[in-house]
Amino acid sequence: MKSERIYLSPPHLSGLEKEYIGKTLDSNWVAPVGPDLDRWEQELSVMVGSKDCCLLNSATAALHLSLVLLNVGPGDLVFIQSHTYAGSVYPIIYQGATPVFIDSEPDSWNMSPESLEEAIRFFLDKGDSSTKVKLKAIIPVHIYGVPANMDKIMALGTKYEIPVVEDAAESLGSKYRGRYTGTFGKIGVYSFNGNKIITTSGGGALMSNDGHLVKRARFLATQAREEAPHYEHSETGYNYRLSNVLAGIGRAQMKVLQNRIEARRANFEHYRRYFEKWNKKGYHVEFQKESTACFSNRWLTCILIDPLKNKGLTREKIHHRLEEQNIESRPLWKPMHLQPAFKNYPFIGNGTADHLFKIGLCLPSGSNMDKNQFKRVFETLDFCFNNQ
Ligand SMILES: *Cc1c(COP(=O)(O)O)cnc(C)c1O
Repeated sequence: MKSERIYLSPPHLSGLEKEYIGKTLDSNWVAPVGPDLDRWEQELSVMVGSKDCCLLNSATAALHLSLVLLNVGPGDLVFIQSHTYAGSVYPIIYQGATPVFIDSEPDSWNMSPESLEEAIRFFLDKGDSSTKVKLKAIIPVHIYGVPANMDKIMALGTKYEIPVVEDAAESLGSKYRGRYTGTFGKIGVYSFNGNKIITTSGGGALMSNDGHLVKRARFLATQAREEAPHYEHSETGYNYRLSNVLAGIGRAQMKVLQNRIEARRANFEHYRRYFEKWNKKGYHVEFQKESTACFSNRWLTCILIDPLKNKGLTREKIHHRLEEQNIESRPLWKPMHLQPAFKNYPFIGNGTADHLFKIGLCLPSGSNMDKNQFKRVFETLDFCFNNQ
């Protein structure tokens, strides 16, 4: 008999969800409008220190609306971290704009400020005077929960007058210099998809300190209905609002967010100590680095296992062995510039994202992982190291 599957990052309910949904259903606000939406927007804004936010039905929708709000259109350029999930990129394509993929830095695995500036300079130097107006947004991603180098990225945004949109889909609760990720850029985006640190099954948030921008996001997300007795529309809207029922789940999940962050960080510590054992025996397993400026929610714990530094042991071998034991693991994100869907768009960098993809593996990291599950994972990993 096969043992029960251990997932990479399964949902983790608090037990309060039924109570919250029950109240939502009793109120009959079974619609993409209602008091739970309003309350959660306030609670989330207060927690992260953002002026306001708009809850939406996914982070992909939130990123799309961000680009609409910034008037990104055909012919415009959007600089985006290549080491990310496709949901970060699709909205650029929806708007008919061109993604310019930026390599990662080796420590945080996030957008390299050097490659970003090189890309900006490249397009400014080769363009005419109108090129500047086409450089419309910079999208850093706080991948696996580890914050990007926001000091340098924000400074470049200011220097070249390009707004920053943070893809903080994976990093709710992570901080950079004591401030929550998702609150640095003109706009920040969170995801509440089933695999994220807290979930509403599907959902997202658009954060901004510009209250006017958030109001406009709400307007566009609810089909751009003008104030009138009949339905009046003077521009194109979207059906992107989160359901009030799901906002009930979100409010219940918010109660345990700090607890989930502690659990994910504890997972990372377990793994770190486990691999230290092997590193003392001549192996060299590496992790994503959290600089002193950063506090990561450690959404996923991922390792780099370069066969050249690990007596020939490969990521592939570990991945297959874990799968044989019914344990889910996954290679790091395949860089967007290597994806068939995006292969014709420009990439600026020197191979870091490619290298991460070759040797990196995401390990089971659920906040509900128990001792027995860790035991199974470690025994399987022991097997890989012992049977080289
Ligand atoms: C999950 C994720 C998204 C998309 O979020 P959805 O809510 O599923 O649309 C975008 N970017 C990153 C980095 C993600 O991990």
